[in-house]
Formats: sequence, structure tokens, C-alpha cells
Amino acid sequence: MHASAPWPHRLLDVPALRQAGTSPVPFEQFVLKLSSRCNLLCSYCYVYTAADDSWRGRPPRIRQDVLERSAERIGEHVAGHGLRGIRVELHGGEPLLGGVDIALRQVSEVRAAVLAAAGTHCEVRVSVQTNGTQLTADGVGRLAAAGVRVGVSLDGGRAEHNKRRVDHAGRPAWEAATRGLALLARHPEAYAGLLCTIDLDLDPEDVYDSLMEFRPAALDFLLPHANWESPPPGKGPSSVGSAPYGEWLAQVFDRWFDSGRHRTRIRLFTEIIGLLLGFPSRAEAVGLSPVAAVLVETDGAIEQVDSLKAAYAQAPATGMNVFRNSFDDVLDHPGIVARQLGAGALGSDCLDCPVLRVCGGGHYAHRYRSGSGFRNRSVYCSDLELLIRHVAHRIEPVLRSGPLLPD
Ligand code: SF4
Repeated sequence: MHASAPWPHRLLDVPALRQAGTSPVPFEQFVLKLSSRCNLLCSYCYVYTAADDSWRGRPPRIRQDVLERSAERIGEHVAGHGLRGIRVELHGGEPLLGGVDIALRQVSEVRAAVLAAAGTHCEVRVSVQTNGTQLTADGVGRLAAAGVRVGVSLDGGRAEHNKRRVDHAGRPAWEAATRGLALLARHPEAYAGLLCTIDLDLDPEDVYDSLMEFRPAALDFLLPHANWESPPPGKGPSSVGSAPYGEWLAQVFDRWFDSGRHRTRIRLFTEIIGLLLGFPSRAEAVGLSPVAAVLVETDGAIEQVDSLKAAYAQAPATGMNVFRNSFDDVLDHPGIVARQLGAGALGSDCLDCPVLRVCGGGHYAHRYRSGSGFRNRSVYCSDLELLIRHVAHRIEPVLRSGPLLPD
């Protein structure tokens, strides 16, 4: 067992699992924190408002030695596993708080390290996830020229949808974010899409329609990070069987599915459709695929995904860092192992569930309950089942309506 693993990951006996034949899946997604601070303080943000406040002790911006060592560790991992493609995601806080120079330095360090370690065999795709307020014409142009794609977080496509997105003085971020989006629209090759955290108080069709006005290549709708100890807004302990998020998402699905605007991919929906057709998932929100993502903080600490911060203090910690540890070391951390076990990490509720193959127990962070850790169904269980059944019900007639191609 891993000495520094925080409870409840210690419950997992990794050596026994390895002896039984479970093998690690190499990381292919590297989340690098460029900044541990944000100029906004969105009311639902799990980094600054949840149980974990480890950001307070971290350097506000990534240190140069961390930036270099992270890149070397990525190169080492790519070469060691013969990876043909990786994703590097630049995150924060707000990753562009220090300007685009830091981002571009990190990108060139990673590309150089991968090239040195593995030659030209590995494609490095880079994106930055920003609140949009720091985007400038010069910055967007330089990110685009460096092949960095930019994703922007919004709660909807109108000012009134974004009341929760405010700065530390309570001033709305909307105007600055839309200015950034207008700059991004001039570089469609760099415009990755929009990320929207669901607000049940907003009309789902209005949110979807208004976001589409920004012509995103892709959209994703996120369930607010929550768990059985901290249920999501609109789903208190007495209403866990209700499915308001599933109903909200089903309305968006219908709008998208019936609109014919499928060139804009909605990740949660295309993942569910793929899973229904028997393909493996590529997102952590649904499915049983092993998670292959790891995160490096501004001080070099290697952590699991940020979303675990919603569970309890230090939940994402591994006790490792890029100076002492390789990413291979992290693959044996019980928290990572658990997230690569698929159905093996689930409790009996999920194992007996008819939609398990598609749902996969939902997002790992949403399963947490004090006492039993993460071996529970998702706090969004009823929402996920409703949405999955709805999507299946909508695509079945299409698949049955005749051959997909003419003879
Ligand atoms: S719908 Fe609920 S019980 Fe079924 S797999 Fe998902 S979280 Fe588990």
C-alpha cells in the first residue's frame, strides 16, 4: 500500500491488484497548472470554494524549474511507453493570468522534450482552458500561431446566464469574456469550444441556443462537482432520487439532436451515443474506460484531477512531485489505480445496474461519501440513468429506420 496515500485510497491493495493481473494504463493527458490563482471567484468553483484549500500554499505562477522538469517527465513517459499522441492541457486558476509568454514557454518545453525523447513519433496536442477575460488580440494570435487551441468557460451565452461568474469584488466577468471570444472568433483554427457548468435556474434550451451564437466547434456541459456529502444545488438529501440535471440535459439533447447542428459536438452526448453503440469512452464523465489523466501543480506536486477537491481536503494529493518522481511512479498510486479499474472500483448498486456499461458509475469525484469513500454510485445516479435512457430512446428509431448507407 502507498504510505502517503490519503484515506480512503489506502483501502486499495495495489500490489495484490498488480499480482492479480491489473496493469497500469500510461498517462496520455497531462494537465499543467500555470497559475494557482484566478482573477474570478465563481460561486460554484470547486478549486477555491470546496473542501481543499491547498492552492493557498502554492506559488501563484508555475516556477521555471517546474515548467522544465514537467516537460522532461512528459518526454520520459512518452518514450517509455511508446506513446503516439498526448494531450497537454494548460489550466489554472486562470492559466493566462501571467500572460501568454508562460503558456508558450511551457508548450515549447514540452514539445522539445517529447521530440528529444521520442523523435517525431508522438503528436502533442495542446489546449488552454480559460475564463476568456485575459485574452488579447496579440495573445490569441500567438497562441494560434503556436498551434494551441483555446477553450472558454461560460454558463450561457447571455449576461444574465453568467451572474455566478464574477471577480473578487463581485463585478461580472461577462463583458471581458465576450471581448475575448470575439478575438478568438478571428482564429477559428484555435477556437476549441465552450465549457458550460449547468445552472438549473436557467432554461436549458435558452442556454444551448445562446451558446451556439458563439459558433463553438464543441460544447460540453458539466455537472457541478458534488458528492453525497455535499449534494449539488437543487438536489438536497431528500431529493436524491429526483433527476433535475438529467431532465435539463435531456432538453438540451433534444434541441441539439433535432436541430441538425451536429457539427458542433456536445461531448457528453457524443460520448453516451458512442458508448451505446459499443465504443469505449474518452471522457471521465461516463463509461468504464481507465482514466489516463494526471496533473502537475505550480510547485511541481503531481496530483490527480482537480475535481476531487470537492470531496475532502488533500483528496487529489499523491505525495509525489516531478523532481522526485516519474509519472510511472504515480501510476501505482492507489487513487490513480482506482480510477483505472473500471467496474472493479464500483459498489454493488452500480454492478447490478442495467445502464452500467454506459454510465460507468459517473464521474469518480461524484461518488464520494464519508465512510465508504468512492465505492458508491454517483450522487447524480438518477440524472445519469434518465439521460442515458433518453438518448437511447431517441437514437433507437434512427438506427432502425433503414440502412445507414445506400447500396
Ligand atoms: S446509473 Fe447509478 S447505479 Fe447505474 S451505473 Fe450509473 S451511478 Fe451506478
